[in-house]
Amino acid sequence: MIIVMKRGTGQPDIDNAVAHVEALGLKPVVIQGTERTVIAAVGEERVAGIGSLESCPGVDEVLPILAPYKLASRELKPESSVITAGSLSVGKGTIGVIAGPCSVETEEQILACAHAVKAAGASALRGGAFKPRTSPYSFQGLKEVGLKLLAEAREQTGLAIVTEVVSPDDVDLVSKYADVLQIGARNMQNYRLLEAVGKSHRAALLKRGPSATIDEFLLAAEYILDGGNQNVMLCERGIRTFESHTRFTLPLATVPYVQQRTHLPIVVDPSHGTGHTALVTSMAKAAIAAGADGLIVEIHPNPDKALSDGYQSLNFAQFETMMKECRRIAEAVDRTLGVGV
Ligand code: PEP
Ligand code: MN
Repeated sequence: MIIVMKRGTGQPDIDNAVAHVEALGLKPVVIQGTERTVIAAVGEERVAGIGSLESCPGVDEVLPILAPYKLASRELKPESSVITAGSLSVGKGTIGVIAGPCSVETEEQILACAHAVKAAGASALRGGAFKPRTSPYSFQGLKEVGLKLLAEAREQTGLAIVTEVVSPDDVDLVSKYADVLQIGARNMQNYRLLEAVGKSHRAALLKRGPSATIDEFLLAAEYILDGGNQNVMLCERGIRTFESHTRFTLPLATVPYVQQRTHLPIVVDPSHGTGHTALVTSMAKAAIAAGADGLIVEIHPNPDKALSDGYQSLNFAQFETMMKECRRIAEAVDRTLGVGV
C-alpha cells in the first residue's frame, strides 16, 4: 500500500504516519519525491486498522499497490531509477555498457579486455571469478585470485567491476573487490543469496532465470529491495523455449514491459541471449532500439581459446564495431551510449 502525503507535509506528520504503519505490523519505506513524500507500507495488506491511516494528519491518499512486487513497482516510484556504481551509470539518458570475458582466466587476458573496454568507450568491466557451470568438470573460475585480477584491472583503467557471486557465504568477499554483484540466471531464485545481496552495500545486477516468468523475476528483485539495497539493475539474458537455433530465446519485449511496471533499469545480455558471436551486435542494436538501459556483452582477446563461452564472445575489433553501431542507434533514440557520469 502507498501512503501519499500532502504537498509540503512536515517531518512530524511523516514520522507519525510511519509510526502508524509500524503499529499495523507493516514495514514503512519512506520515499522522498521531488513533489511530495510517499510511504510504502510493505507486508500483508489485509490487516485491520488500515482505514485509520487515511485520517492521520498530512495523509492525502492511501492506495493499494496492485502488483505482487511492491518496492519494485512504478506505482510506488513513478520516476525511473538511475543506478551508478563507479564508472557505470545505467538508466534515463545513459545506456551503460558492461563488457569483458565470461571468465577471468589470466592477468594478461583480463587486462587486455579492460583496456579494450575502455578504448571502445564502454562503462564497466565484467568477468566471472566464481563461475556457476552446468557441468562440474568445466572451468569453475579463479575465485579470489580472479577477484584480485579484476581489482588490478580497475586500478589500471578506472572501470567499475561487475562480477558474479554464487553463494551467500561469498557476498562479503566478492563485495571487497566488486562494484556490482551479479546474480546469475541459475541463482535468480536462490532466496538466501538474494537476501544476502539485499544486505550488501553494493549495487546488484539480477539476471532473469531461463524459466522464470516476469512476475517471478520482479519478485526476486523485490527480495533485494526488501533487504534494504535499492541499487538493483534487472538483466534479460534469454529464456528457454523449444527453439534450438539460438542458445536461449532473447525476448526484447521484456524491456518495455518491465519499464512500464517497474522503476528499475533493465540491461540486456545479447551474448547469453543468442549464444552466437555473429548474432550479438544485431541484438545489441535491437535492445537499444527497444529502450534498454544497458548492455552486458562478452568479449575475449582470442574467443577460440576462451575457457568458457568463446562461441558467443566478440573479439576486440568486433566489439569496437558493435559500440560504433550501437552509438548510432542510441543517438536515434536520444540517449548516450557508454560512459556518461
Ligand atoms: C555469465 O554472465 O557469464 C553467466 C553465467 O550468465 P547467466 O547467469 O545469464 O547464464
Ligand atoms: Mn558466460
